[in-house]
Amino acid sequence: MKIIDLHCDVLGKLTKADPPIKFSSAIQLQASKEKLQAGQVVIQDFAIFIGEDVPQADKFTEAMRQVELFYTNVLQPNPDVIHITDWKQVYTLKEGQLGAILSLEGCDAIGEDLLKLQTLLDAGVKLVGLTWNFENSVAYGAEENPNQGLKPFGKEVIELLNDRDIIIDVSHLNEKSYWDILPLAKHLIASHSNARALCNHTRNLSDEQAIALVKQGGHIHVVYYPPFIKEGTDDVTIDDLVKHVKYLAELVGIEHIGLGSDFDGIDRTVIGLENASQSQNLILTLFQHFSEDEVKMIANENFLRYIQKQGI
Ligand SMILES: [Zn+2]
Repeated sequence: MKIIDLHCDVLGKLTKADPPIKFSSAIQLQASKEKLQAGQVVIQDFAIFIGEDVPQADKFTEAMRQVELFYTNVLQPNPDVIHITDWKQVYTLKEGQLGAILSLEGCDAIGEDLLKLQTLLDAGVKLVGLTWNFENSVAYGAEENPNQGLKPFGKEVIELLNDRDIIIDVSHLNEKSYWDILPLAKHLIASHSNARALCNHTRNLSDEQAIALVKQGGHIHVVYYPPFIKEGTDDVTIDDLVKHVKYLAELVGIEHIGLGSDFDGIDRTVIGLENASQSQNLILTLFQHFSEDEVKMIANENFLRYIQKQGI
């Protein structure tokens, strides 16, 4: 069954690899093209992510380096990989093609410069997370004090993103930033978060957050990272992940749930879901709990319908 996956960190791995590796076939990648195709992933989001180790002055250059690798390593050598620059392309992909979405995970790289954000959007970024886990000029991330929220520059950022119909990703925000941003953002999504009721982690959504997100038109894409699935153990099964899908589906409606693996951004994996080539194992487990139509909704249709509903 075809899968749409709203988050991976392949670009980060491609930038760090020495000697260089190829997106098409590198065994080091959890989400190489070969593995994505083996797992029937038809649309994959590629996040630009700049780590805390990069000094602020170098962050934008580093972001552009990842954009450059998206072009030269993901797109150019692979004519079957199609850059989604207009959301309508998601409906016209042909058999055997992989749709590639470029996203920004945290606005740290832009400092306080909207022109830098515009440059990234012009390069084809379609989805923007305002923070990673820490504070930046826009807001506060999941590992910061939950009482500090959106900053004045963040309001300008949201305005620009709304003007350009960019989807705003709330997955890494802390509590206060989340609630500040929700009423302001035009197009919302949580690209890789689970249910906090089942796994008490600041990266997961509380019931209240999940309900409010969906009320604002947002969708929730579950993440395959063990610490966000089950507390106190790395022994995490696909069944444990499916419990989050079931819980969230019951809470907010199955039509608002999707997938966001986080492959190549995770150092631990779910048993049987170690890389993108094993994605159909998740589909098989979903079949034990949902009808074929429902599994199809989670795997791909909900996101297609999201794009349609957003009118973007
Ligand atoms: Zn992340």
